[in-house]
Amino acid sequence: MLGKLRSRGHTFTDEEEQAEAVIVNTCCFIDAAKEESIEEILSFEERRKSGELKALIVTGCLAERYRAEIIKEIPAVDAVVGVTAIDRIAEVLEQAAGGRLTGKQERVVIGEKDPPGHGNAERVLTTGGHYEFLKIAEGCDKHCTYCVIPKIRGSYRSVPMEELVAEAQKLADGGVTELILVAQETTRYGVDLYGEKRLPALLKALCAIDTLHWIRLLYCYPEEIDDALIDVIASEKKICRYLDIPIQSGSDRILKRMGRRVNRAQIIELVDRLRTRIPGLCIRTTLIAGFPGETAADQRESMDLVRTLRFDRLGVFTYSREEGTPAAGFSDLVTARVMKTRRTKLMKLQQEVVRETAETLVGTTMEAVIEGRIAEDCDPENGPVYIARTERDAPDVDGYLFLEGVPRSRDLLSGSFVRVRVTGVNGYDLTGVLDDENESAE
Ligand code: SF4
Repeated sequence: MLGKLRSRGHTFTDEEEQAEAVIVNTCCFIDAAKEESIEEILSFEERRKSGELKALIVTGCLAERYRAEIIKEIPAVDAVVGVTAIDRIAEVLEQAAGGRLTGKQERVVIGEKDPPGHGNAERVLTTGGHYEFLKIAEGCDKHCTYCVIPKIRGSYRSVPMEELVAEAQKLADGGVTELILVAQETTRYGVDLYGEKRLPALLKALCAIDTLHWIRLLYCYPEEIDDALIDVIASEKKICRYLDIPIQSGSDRILKRMGRRVNRAQIIELVDRLRTRIPGLCIRTTLIAGFPGETAADQRESMDLVRTLRFDRLGVFTYSREEGTPAAGFSDLVTARVMKTRRTKLMKLQQEVVRETAETLVGTTMEAVIEGRIAEDCDPENGPVYIARTERDAPDVDGYLFLEGVPRSRDLLSGSFVRVRVTGVNGYDLTGVLDDENESAE
């Protein structure tokens, strides 16, 4: 959307008071996301009513799913633009700002259902420049019983490989060194377009882009991780030893109710196989606490799986009942209090696992990318502390490595890669020092 707007001459500001128009890009995956989205829209209501803002537009999943409600309940919103209509964002913004969107129907801009996936010719980078996301597909065909995404985003549509490689090349030419592949699930990439899974081929093509240093894969569906994919990750140095594989529960009974296509034994076998074939692999997963019908015994199975498989990273969400999903019709709901307790128990257990795993890293040498520097006056005696990330940490969701004792004469730029020796553990983060003997700064 930013690319489309910029190509029409619009400019962007981080200062809300300076903005003449606001576009709120929303999520509605779970209740918490919906609440946050609505609060954000409402925070601009007064400014739009007073005329200080010329347009207030809502895009994203909440706009797609609750378009009629938004238009009816929040009159200050000029237009909602659905997930497959974002190519029209500049036109809608200009019409709204010019006062030309008046009828209810004009204010709801929804695109066609399941249009082919396409890359992004125009992009405005918002991540700071050295890492960037590459969306390789849209939609999902899995239909997990709790999930509303297939309804909102439609069926799985891969972006043609040549478009992705061209987009990645352009990002790399612009200074991006870490590319993060995303989709609602990345592992089925290519099935719709090429009749077979092509993620391994895509990864190989991306690895051939000279200046890319790390390629990271998020949202892998366990059932779809096959030997061809494992081989590529194991053999290509640029692919981070990091996989995000949501499993959602450790109980077969609940996995079945969730409509997940793997069972506990298959999850254990997969994690074992991955760790054997890709030494040092960092595995992130997510669990849902309190799915309808989940008993104390099911929770124990999830706890037991966390204890056994020792995931390197874990996110736990409490179950959110989403209208229009099969699970919304399940009557045996778990109370909010129990859900919260179960979530806390899982996270507490995970803290122990993380601490123990992190302690095994102390003394090892790893590569890390510099993210920034903490203001120098934090530690006037020892010089600046740099914030870095290892391949075990995805931006935003995982931890950091705090790099201490860097000589003042060394000015480490954001996005540069260095070798570090891990010296300690601090919660979910690590501390380290430059490993000058093995330095490989780029
Ligand atoms: S695989 Fe992920 S996006 Fe697809 S239906 Fe299941 S939870 Fe939703």
